[in-house]
Amino acid sequence: MNEILRIYEETGAIKKGHFLLSSGLHSDTYFQSALVLQYPKYSEFLCKSLANHFKNYKIDVVVGPAIGAIIVAYETAKFLNARAIFTERENGIMKLRRGFYINENENILIVEDVITTGSSTNEVIEVVKSYNANIVGIGCLIDRSENVKFDYPFYSLVKVIVKTYRPENCELCALKIPIEKPGSKEWKK
Ligand code: ZN
Repeated sequence: MNEILRIYEETGAIKKGHFLLSSGLHSDTYFQSALVLQYPKYSEFLCKSLANHFKNYKIDVVVGPAIGAIIVAYETAKFLNARAIFTERENGIMKLRRGFYINENENILIVEDVITTGSSTNEVIEVVKSYNANIVGIGCLIDRSENVKFDYPFYSLVKVIVKTYRPENCELCALKIPIEKPGSKEWKK
């Protein structure tokens, strides 16, 4: 088994059931990265690999969307000797808050924990562009997308193939299996 997936498995971060993903898609599998990232030894191990891939890009700032990417951005930035910041939605609009800033022409690495459709990554891209900075790459721990494409170098620690459904033709909905919204309740290993 892939080392990354082994860590997710070991920490109970790969959950099977019927899930509503933040992208709006339904799936029989959910990756709860928080359960992996609660262990500093694992967040360090994973983000070091991510940082290593982008080490020659002279990165000034690592940025990811809250909450999932906060630790990923921080840990990755640590190895790149860069700043770590995060974007948040305010009234549905992704932006930098808390006095975070990006200077013009700074080199930016965008990170995520898990990429499904790439929609929140694209929102972060728009935020970074609005500061006239250089996006040098996009990195994530797990790419569970069908075949997401970005206009920037994209690197994931692992690419997995898992079933996702549009709500209107979800096989699990058809079976009347109750849907869970991850993060909204306590999870048991
Ligand atoms: Zn469903």
